[in-house]
Amino acid sequence: MNAPHPLTARRPIRELPDELISQIAAGEVVERPASVVRELVDNALDAGAGEVTVRLLAGGVRAIVVEDDGCGIPPAELPLALKRHATSKIASLHELEDVLTMGFRGEALAAVCSIAEVSISTRTADAAHAVRLEARSGELVPAARAVGTSVEVRELFFNTPARRKFLKTDATELAHCIEAVRRHALARPDVSFAVWHEGRLVENWRAGDAEARVRDVLGQDFLDHSRPFDTAVGPLRISGRAGLPEHARARGDLQYTFVNGRHVRDKTIAHGVRAAYEDVLHGSRQPAYLLQVQIAPDRVDVNVHPAKSEVRLRDSREVHQAVRRAVESALAASRHADGVAPAAEPSIDGSPRPAPAWPAREAGELRYGALTPTQSALALQEAAVLFAQEAPASGWAAPRAAPGGAVETAAAPDADPRERLAAAYASAAREAQPQTSPAALPAARDGGELAWPLGRAIAQIAGVYVLAENAHGLVIVDMHAAHERIVYERLKSGLRDARMESQPLLIPAAFAASADEVATAEAHADSLAALGLEITALTPTRLAVRSRPAALQQ
Ligand code: ADP
Ligand code: MG
Repeated sequence: MNAPHPLTARRPIRELPDELISQIAAGEVVERPASVVRELVDNALDAGAGEVTVRLLAGGVRAIVVEDDGCGIPPAELPLALKRHATSKIASLHELEDVLTMGFRGEALAAVCSIAEVSISTRTADAAHAVRLEARSGELVPAARAVGTSVEVRELFFNTPARRKFLKTDATELAHCIEAVRRHALARPDVSFAVWHEGRLVENWRAGDAEARVRDVLGQDFLDHSRPFDTAVGPLRISGRAGLPEHARARGDLQYTFVNGRHVRDKTIAHGVRAAYEDVLHGSRQPAYLLQVQIAPDRVDVNVHPAKSEVRLRDSREVHQAVRRAVESALAASRHADGVAPAAEPSIDGSPRPAPAWPAREAGELRYGALTPTQSALALQEAAVLFAQEAPASGWAAPRAAPGGAVETAAAPDADPRERLAAAYASAAREAQPQTSPAALPAARDGGELAWPLGRAIAQIAGVYVLAENAHGLVIVDMHAAHERIVYERLKSGLRDARMESQPLLIPAAFAASADEVATAEAHADSLAALGLEITALTPTRLAVRSRPAALQQ
């Protein structure tokens, strides 16, 4: 999983010949503090660093310092390092085709110098002491530091106020900076990374094996709910971890793709992953995954995007297939290991069977857990009312007593809770839809399937699902999901009518949050307030819920 090692022997920095410049020039690469962080950490890794420290002030806007223990820059070459199109990494077009370093255009430091105050302190292994170069004045003075390089960038966009205005809050910029380092850290578990903000250590990932790095950066949860894969097809190697379908997410925020150690967004690879999840993932759900592609450098063109965040794969079909197979193999292995949940088998006459004894593991993994009989009764009553109101769009027919007596309108108080539940459901549905008497129902159905797409309820399975029948066959409804839908609809209509009632908490509920989460809560405070939620940052790593929607009181 480790990226190929960049520099074996350091070469001098040279200005690129004009014809090569015209081939690679990308122009501006600095959009926000995180772009600077990415470029400086790229440089540290290219210099062979084993330890990279990033120090930030005000989300990186006031200062970004990146320190490494890499090879350093000889004093004589230092001024050249800041010049546009001067690089030690490639010297010819031929070398561009084989590039394994993160940088190769010689543009980053020059671009950063044009929009910020920059100074570099550096020392090579054979130097008696370090030197420091002030970019603006060009002043070169002796300095003190161990072998390696520190690049200090202050007052980003100081001379372009219009650009500075586009920056978000410090918290948001900090989150982007951390995300930039996170990507490097995932690609290079053999390197230690630390991020400081305003003098406080916010991330610290020690060098170790790939699994430990994934745990540190993406969390134990991702590790527990993903399966590893590592396959080689000829010179192509695909490795990483595929998130289990049950733990797919609403957002594609946990999807990391690296090609030769470089974080990229690549449609071919993303599509290959998606194809592997095709049969096991619901349409809009996003799998979590971490995918490393190692490929011969001449089979990938890295010079296609200004920020180098896209690449062009020369054998995109092969890569697509290999990615798909690798991820499929991980998912298939996990299905074998976990087995399949026992199927609940409804009896022929439709009467509720005793709930199957779910093996403990499956019971724990049931997405909604078990509902109490009262909860499910409530859910179904609400579902009936909702569906009745919303019919025919999402209609569910009021149930009637099935020939086998599965759904009785009045069950004895001491009857099985599930029977009572079914009865409660039936009567609630009737109340909600008085014109639909059981007798009238066949007519309604004759009137068209559209009227009652969910059909009529027949039985209950495992105390969790309702089995219904319509003209196409059997329908299984998850009662807890139905209940969630009710609550959701209620919240939605509350929001629509702008009467989302909020209830302050006596004691705010505080919890640990990532920089990204704190930034999101800050940025969307108004939207959250409209939803009845007041969430504020207690500290840069803790959020507090101060009020919540009254509808979610329970
Ligand atoms: P590129 O990385 O594309 O070569 P940069 O502008 O980022 O262009 O850097 C210019 C040159 O400065 C690099 O080629 C490298 O020789 C030198 N350099 C920059 N940062 C470092 C560092 N942290 N350690 C050693 N050398 C560095
Ligand atoms: Mg660079």
